[in-house]
Amino acid sequence: MSTTNPETPTASSNFLQEIIAEDVRTKKYGDAQIQTRFPPEPNGYLHIGHAKAICIDFGLAAEFGGKTNLRFDDTNPEKEEQEYVDSIQKDVRWLGFNWDRLCYASDYFPQLYQWAIELIKTGKAYVDDLTADQIRQHRGTLTEPGKDSPYRNRSIEENLDLFTRMKAGEFPDGTRVLRAKIDMASPNLNMRDPVMYRILHATHQRTGDQWCIYPMYDYAHGQSDSLEHVTHSMCTLEFADHQPLYRWYIEQLGIFPSQQIEFDRLNITYTVLSKRRLIQFVQENRVNGWDDPRMPTLSGLRRRGFTPEAIRTFVAASGVSRTNGITDIEMLDHFQRDDLNHRARRAMAVLHPLKLVIDNYPEGPGELVEVANNPEDPTAGTRQVPFSRELYIEQDDFREVPPPKYYRLSPGKEVRLRNAYFVTAHTVVKDAAGNIAEVHCTYDPASRGGNSPDGRKVKSTMHWVSAAHAIPAEIRLYDKLFLKPDPNDFAEGQDILDNLNPNSLEILTDAKLEPSLAAAKLEDRFQFERVGYFCLDPDSTPDSATEKLIFNRTLPLKDSWAKIEKKAGM
Ligand code: ATP
Ligand code: MG
Repeated sequence: MSTTNPETPTASSNFLQEIIAEDVRTKKYGDAQIQTRFPPEPNGYLHIGHAKAICIDFGLAAEFGGKTNLRFDDTNPEKEEQEYVDSIQKDVRWLGFNWDRLCYASDYFPQLYQWAIELIKTGKAYVDDLTADQIRQHRGTLTEPGKDSPYRNRSIEENLDLFTRMKAGEFPDGTRVLRAKIDMASPNLNMRDPVMYRILHATHQRTGDQWCIYPMYDYAHGQSDSLEHVTHSMCTLEFADHQPLYRWYIEQLGIFPSQQIEFDRLNITYTVLSKRRLIQFVQENRVNGWDDPRMPTLSGLRRRGFTPEAIRTFVAASGVSRTNGITDIEMLDHFQRDDLNHRARRAMAVLHPLKLVIDNYPEGPGELVEVANNPEDPTAGTRQVPFSRELYIEQDDFREVPPPKYYRLSPGKEVRLRNAYFVTAHTVVKDAAGNIAEVHCTYDPASRGGNSPDGRKVKSTMHWVSAAHAIPAEIRLYDKLFLKPDPNDFAEGQDILDNLNPNSLEILTDAKLEPSLAAAKLEDRFQFERVGYFCLDPDSTPDSATEKLIFNRTLPLKDSWAKIEKKAGM
């Protein structure tokens, strides 16, 4: 299903690069530098789809020696909040980009208003008293032309008077709008006298109560681009039908000719990238906030342990095109694993502990064994890990009666405890309910470090944690938020919420960690050997009296045993 092979990030140039390269070659904008912008509406947190737009806007400008503004498209005060403005800035920086100027569409309200007056004066805009419903009815359809509003031919004087009074607050919300006078019969519905301004008595997070008329996106966007001398205004394909209108305003006003270019939206399997939906999940407590590690938001991915490097690599590899496609979520996971494999420090953690007692190992404090911090990176050094007579191993690593092809520990079977010794299991101790409470084994003292002098081979190497030294932790395991590759694939009468994965979060409260993990920092990344990639969760309270460590699983390792088990139908 993926549009791109994850092994081959695109090296050749894409159509956006080609357009800009050509404009530079022909000096379309004279000696002016390439200027782009990233224009989020502050009505939600950024998601990984926005990461694609950010990489394109900032990436292309950087490639051609230009600059990028971060511009808040803050024209809809009812849905916009300072919290979103702040989180967006934080996330753009985290992704690795710095803007040239921080701009707000609201800074241009006075200029946009002046330009509206200008359009009225040249007979290109009029005040309409139709209601929103009536305007919709007059608009026509794809097959039928629209009908002129009875107010379409008001005099310039009357329009100026009414628009000034709209601004002065004389009329209630929704009673009048300012419309561009273009063509009610245009085959493009966006050109059928689009609304430029609406009346809205709402307090704006930046301009307060200064305005009670607000510009529509289409009227504000192109003019904002033009004011910032944006040369290439990249946006997603759904705006292609708006491009004639974007150009119309700029041409009528005779202002700097920014050009809009559309590219495909990033869509990912098992993932919802609609802000409207993401807001709903947050408000209805389907997730634990915008930064819930199951959310496709940048703040959620960050908390989950994803890295900006991997997200950028993924975005580059998923490519840009002129048609919408869908990218496999496994591709994102692939690049994240690849990144973490190189950078994550190894550690041992037992998620589902089972006591292992080495009967012939001396009682007492035990010993320290030396362990490499990252076999992929010799410069990461080594650390000393305590080993003793009583250990924890994973419950899954022992079977009293082993199934075929099970090579881990079982009575009579010898395995390697990573970096420590060979051990052979003998007996089990069960609790009253018949569950295995302890496994007893013996070790071969000559196999210290994990190899036997006689060259004897074992088929399995297992991780472990010394029971006396183990630190307790909570582990949060995440799975996909949705059950279906296309979360919008639901039966009639159902909803996207019916596709939510009820098991997307599993909390383990009894994990045992090697002691070095007590010093973990939020920005650290770990590979818990044989288990997966993990990072500390900000809910942890390592320095408090009620100390609690919580680790999030970024991704599991690819588990070959799970595959075998599945294949065999076990
Ligand atoms: P939504 O439709 O989810 O509300 P939006 O497009 O309205 O998102 P904006 O804040 O307007 O959100 O987006 C800022 C920029 O990010 C726009 O240029 C938009 O085209 C781009 N963008 C949004 N979603 C995606 C996506 N999935 N893939 C690529 N670019 C995107
Ligand atoms: Mg938008």
